[in-house]
Amino acid sequence: MEKIKMRTPIVEMDGDEMTRILWKMIKDELILPFVDLKSEYYDLSLVNREKTEDKVTFDSAYATKKYGVAVKCATITPNKQRVEEYNLSKMWKSPNGTIRAILDGTVFRAPILIDSILPAVRNWQKPITIARHAYGDVYKSTEYRVPSKGKAELVFSGEDGSSFRETIYDFECAGVLQGQYNKDSSIRSFAYSCFNYALATKQDLWFSTKDTISKQYDQTFKLIFEEIYENEYKDKFEEAGIEYFYTLIDDAVARVIRSKGGFVWALKNYDGDVMSDMVSTAFGSLAMMTSVLVSPDGNYEFEAAHGTVTRHYYKYLKGEQTSTNPMATIYAWSGALRKRGEFDGLTDLINFADKLEKACIDTLNSGVMTKDLVDLVKEGTKTTTVNSLEFIKEIRKNLEASL
Ligand code: NAP
Ligand code: MG
Repeated sequence: MEKIKMRTPIVEMDGDEMTRILWKMIKDELILPFVDLKSEYYDLSLVNREKTEDKVTFDSAYATKKYGVAVKCATITPNKQRVEEYNLSKMWKSPNGTIRAILDGTVFRAPILIDSILPAVRNWQKPITIARHAYGDVYKSTEYRVPSKGKAELVFSGEDGSSFRETIYDFECAGVLQGQYNKDSSIRSFAYSCFNYALATKQDLWFSTKDTISKQYDQTFKLIFEEIYENEYKDKFEEAGIEYFYTLIDDAVARVIRSKGGFVWALKNYDGDVMSDMVSTAFGSLAMMTSVLVSPDGNYEFEAAHGTVTRHYYKYLKGEQTSTNPMATIYAWSGALRKRGEFDGLTDLINFADKLEKACIDTLNSGVMTKDLVDLVKEGTKTTTVNSLEFIKEIRKNLEASL
């Protein structure tokens, strides 16, 4: 078979530990035999980040801006213990944080579903994608433990001389205070990313906040979304046969639980943090969560939602077999190749991505799976537990049969 041709490179960001091992297996077994891969390779392993003083992370993010599509392996975010383990000169920042800051994006997370793993919520039939605004609010707040009786005020001093001052509370005893902020520019980026993602995946977009209580703060989010939708997306959504609607977060929670799934749920930073853990747990497993960063100007970076699976890596180093699940990392590859195909008008590449995902699902539906999933499937399902490489080779068999 002739290999599928590509026109423009994708940005390839290699990573650390067990996922780095999986990365090579996936490329060798599922990509390189079939695709004449064009990629610009960046080694984001902690060793190379140290060697390049983290320049490689910045370069990979700028390359993503240039080419528009990236695929990323999980990477270690160093902490004190890692600084010692890797003898680092500095506690380098989280690569995901660096990349997000440069691309200015929103992270979308969606579960991969299979027949034998039932969501905890019975009526969910399709994935629910969470779009979390990853900037500001309580994550960038200023807090104060009020020690005793006294007055708390909210003060703003405009550069143009304007000012605002209002009493928050006249404390008659000790208490707590918190000041949060967000920026119109960041909320606008969030909105653009959400509208673009919903269009690209042809799914309805829901957005929810608590604007009835938060009449300035949450209301601003609501109005910015509304304005951008009315002016720039209404026609496109109607053409695509999809819907945008805003509803209060309490109402959204009730609707999400009663829904069949199959939509994008946009949430403010804290709400997205909490709801994405709730939704992903209810769907099954972290190893089956895909994640993509979409920037407001339409760049895509695909990855798995999980980390480098350190515990498995240490077993692997001791020569033990590991049954680490490569699904989310394979889907990062298929997602990136499909998007590249869409951008460059390469039907063969798009078809390949579809067939690769189908081969994964067929393998799982035949009962061949890694250990983490065997523990989750419904009673009575016939399963064969395999290690990572055996699983990938089984997917390859199914893929070859379909090509
Ligand atoms: P993790 O790598 O996600 O793993 C936590 C546990 O979840 C594993 O020990 C394993 O459970 C299970 N698990 C996760 N992915 C799995 C898979 N594909 N197959 C089977 N089981 C899976 O999280 P962590 O151990 O907290 O973090 C490890 C490193 O990853 C850290 O250095 C962190 O900085 C980094 N990290 C990177 C990213 C990223 O690059 N996006 C995200 C999160 C964390 P069992 O051990 O019970 O089998
Ligand atoms: Mg969380």
